[in-house]
Amino acid sequence: MATLTALNSKNEYPNVTTTMRQYLLHQPVKRSVWTFRTSKIARIATARRSFASEASSSPEVYDVVVVGGGPVGLTLAASLGAARTTSHLKVALVEGMDLAPTRNWSPKSDYFANRIVSLIPSTVRLLKETGVWKHIRQDRVQPYEGMQVWDGMSGARVEFDWNKLWGGKDAQTDTIIAHMVENVHLSHGLLKAIESLAVKPTIMDKTKVDRIEYGQMTEQSDMRDWPVVTLSTGQQLAARLLIGADGGNSPVRAFAGIESRGWDYARHSMVATFKIEDDSAFPKFAYQRFLPSGPVAILPLPGNFANLAWSTTPEKVAHLKSLAPEDFVAMVNAAFRLSYTDIDYLHNLKSGVVDEVEWRESVTKYPDPPQIPARIVEVLEGTRASFPLKMRHADKYIGERMALIGDAAHTIHPMAGQGLNSGIGDVYSLVKSLAEGIRHGQDIGSPFTLEPYQAERYLPNNALLGFVDKLHTLYGFESGPLVPLRSLGVEIINRDWFGLKRFLMSQAAKS
Ligand SMILES: Cc1cc2nc3c(=O)[nH]c(=O)nc-3n(C[C@H](O)[C@H](O)[C@H](O)COP(=O)(O)OP(=O)(O)OC[C@H]3O[C@@H](n4cnc5c(N)ncnc54)[C@H](O)[C@@H]3O)c2cc1C
Repeated sequence: MATLTALNSKNEYPNVTTTMRQYLLHQPVKRSVWTFRTSKIARIATARRSFASEASSSPEVYDVVVVGGGPVGLTLAASLGAARTTSHLKVALVEGMDLAPTRNWSPKSDYFANRIVSLIPSTVRLLKETGVWKHIRQDRVQPYEGMQVWDGMSGARVEFDWNKLWGGKDAQTDTIIAHMVENVHLSHGLLKAIESLAVKPTIMDKTKVDRIEYGQMTEQSDMRDWPVVTLSTGQQLAARLLIGADGGNSPVRAFAGIESRGWDYARHSMVATFKIEDDSAFPKFAYQRFLPSGPVAILPLPGNFANLAWSTTPEKVAHLKSLAPEDFVAMVNAAFRLSYTDIDYLHNLKSGVVDEVEWRESVTKYPDPPQIPARIVEVLEGTRASFPLKMRHADKYIGERMALIGDAAHTIHPMAGQGLNSGIGDVYSLVKSLAEGIRHGQDIGSPFTLEPYQAERYLPNNALLGFVDKLHTLYGFESGPLVPLRSLGVEIINRDWFGLKRFLMSQAAKS
């Protein structure tokens, strides 16, 4: 009762508007959760801003508005609903694309999509904790326990294999490097988890965010420090906290005036899904070869399927896409078996790659025992696609009543398979900060609540971005003193001198 009385008193809570009060009165929550303490900093900022907002006088009020229904935005919606302290929050998620095909995803057993992510153990743990993993079909997930990585010029190789390193542990989860899951499968599981929440977020798909601005002061309310989102439907949403999970070109980041720095790599990532020859005699491993034009990786999928991620120049990607399916398959097999000079030559052929590769392979010596992926026999129709690669890092992750997560905050080269993993790491950290703020009676949009999130995530993400970027540069050299030096480094890691290999593997498992 005290809660209701307090909320009814406009004087005590000057920033609680009529609309907000009507909404809050219907929320079965403790008063502390809703206490609205606008900080001094926020008040000064608000006073400086005098927006002649076109927003209608009564936008619908939400605690959290998430812009972006990609995997990171959906993970946030699922996690907020699953965490006890945040499960009562009124959440809206806005996504420009149609989510119906993802919701109704019904895969064929002999087909895997071309967009696949490797989820590291800490990500899978979070997905289990939030009840998402039980909606993921395990027959379409491929865990892998080992990784072969080698220098395309010198052949120096590092083998990441938990089983060999630890002598084989019996607890399976301890030895898994990552799980390969189709992106659409993960998003489908996330939507299922969201549908099963007690308090469901409002999902608005096929709806774009057209405009974001701060609200205005009217006779009834003062929304000058609340972001108000105008949707393509004309509807307006006022957000106590606005989340940008809206990808690399984040409109939320632009609204907040946060710079995002970095560069384009002049490289595209070519993806495709293949059938491979029977490899049941071999363990399911991931293979990555560093060529000077960029790394090429084959990643395992269930059964006799595998996925390609080949980062190379846009011209070479255009060539790979233009080839007949059998020539493309020969080209990818060659990328793991022939010298860089051979591969470069093959990129000039418009046809006849199969015969050329067969002849060149017959005179090429394989490593013994073979540490190369099983041979690809067929590319699945319609799975060849490519994506431009870039590195970007936002100057900060939080602003007034807003926070950035996932690719909106940081975009990384996919060679280490960490982009989504670090986005989900952001979600975990942000939900923790919000829950902590709520427990202390803080406003969820205040800097006091959001600061721990930024403090926890910014530096680790920055270090990861820097490390992957340096790797990209280091392996771009075809010759010169750096080639033997990097090979020496690889040799040191491979022998686990100073426990370096163990360190790298354990770091990679907890983005
Ligand atoms: C080839 C390749 C391979 C990769 N492999 C891996 C891997 O193995 N492991 C890994 O961890 N990561 C990997 N990544 C990275 C991973 O795909 C991304 O980090 C991840 O998809 C980012 O998710 P997100 O939800 O932050 O952004 P996005 O997936 O970009 O989603 C943003 C969403 O916001 C929506 N949106 C944008 N603007 C608006 C608007 N105005 N209104 C409404 N909605 C809007 C978009 O429609 C989109 O759905 C890979 C990336 C590439 C390119």
